[in-house]
Amino acid sequence: MEKETLYVHGHNFTEPTGAVSVPIYQSATFKHVGLNESTGFDYSRLQNPTRQAVEHTVAALEGGADAIGYSSGMAAITALMELFSPGGHIVSSEDLYGGAIRFFRNISAKNGLSFSFTDTSDLVAVEKSITQKTKAIFIETPTNPMMIITDIEAICRIAKPRGIWVIVDNTFLTPHFLQPLKLGADIVVHSGTKFLGGHNDTLAGFSVFKDADIAEKARFIAKTIGACLSPFDSWLLLRGIKTLAIRMERAEKNAFAVAEFLQNHKRVNKVFYAGLPSHKGYGILKKQATGFGSMVSFEVDSHETLKKVLKSVKVLSFAESLGGVESLITYPAVQTHADVPELEREKRGINDRLLRISVGIENEKDIIADLKHALE
Ligand SMILES: *Cc1c(COP(=O)(O)O)cnc(C)c1O
Repeated sequence: MEKETLYVHGHNFTEPTGAVSVPIYQSATFKHVGLNESTGFDYSRLQNPTRQAVEHTVAALEGGADAIGYSSGMAAITALMELFSPGGHIVSSEDLYGGAIRFFRNISAKNGLSFSFTDTSDLVAVEKSITQKTKAIFIETPTNPMMIITDIEAICRIAKPRGIWVIVDNTFLTPHFLQPLKLGADIVVHSGTKFLGGHNDTLAGFSVFKDADIAEKARFIAKTIGACLSPFDSWLLLRGIKTLAIRMERAEKNAFAVAEFLQNHKRVNKVFYAGLPSHKGYGILKKQATGFGSMVSFEVDSHETLKKVLKSVKVLSFAESLGGVESLITYPAVQTHADVPELEREKRGINDRLLRISVGIENEKDIIADLKHALE
């Protein structure tokens, strides 16, 4: 099946009434058929039919052996880190989602894992960061908020011979534009809160595994930790994913228009959008993905302009998060990346003039008119 069809039918769910929409199985527990017999469902922390339907969909989209649904993207990342033992070392993109960095530095480190934060677009730097104890390379691409592109196949060529796992946070592009497992990665994680859910109304997370044995270990961890996706939220994700193709494509089209508008605006110094041929890594993304996504960061001429933009926008909302039908604008230095030390932020360009837009699916004319007015 082609992906657009999988978005709608990938859950592969049937039930006796013929309901076209997968029902919400709002049940914590399930009757046993008899002693040592089960319908396949016993208790909803372990498995729930609605959650299983969305897990099947996400596994099919990424081409994985299995996918696990969690209550948030951070819950998925937390559970993933439980696959590693104390003493393990992980090489990670340095320009990472702020919450993931906070988790690695404050929680994983306390549990005995160590991290090297590296620019994973620099393959030499990645090789240099690898030690005898390295268990995984954790990549986000494009990164948040600088849109840095990492060559996933090249990273896999470094990792594979050393038995190191490659983990890709695929929140920004989703399987509609990028399928890391097909490029050689071992595990994909998602904040389902973003493009998969797509409506800024639900928190969700997924991990997807190429290898069934690793997936089984992860499932044991998931059912034991219990940060599982609820039946209703599973249903919202199923519903969101049905329109993934049309949302991703429309948002991307709008993002191109927004990036072009910003590039030509006198109050804008720099635009970071992976779809601009001038963007570093554009060629790599063109090779490994089928789209560039709809995340656009830009630097304005002064902090005063930044403040004015955030105060003046009307079609765009000044709010955290991304990936929904509504366009959102954020100030990464004080919102998503507040926990990154200031010096490090400055070095990476996350300064007091940088804004990030998650371009939604509104009419591009209205988004641009809103920005134009706000920048004046
Ligand atoms: C939002 C986000 C997360 C965390 O997901 P939550 O659902 O907010 O817990 C992880 N990675 C990326 C790239 C994100 O944008």
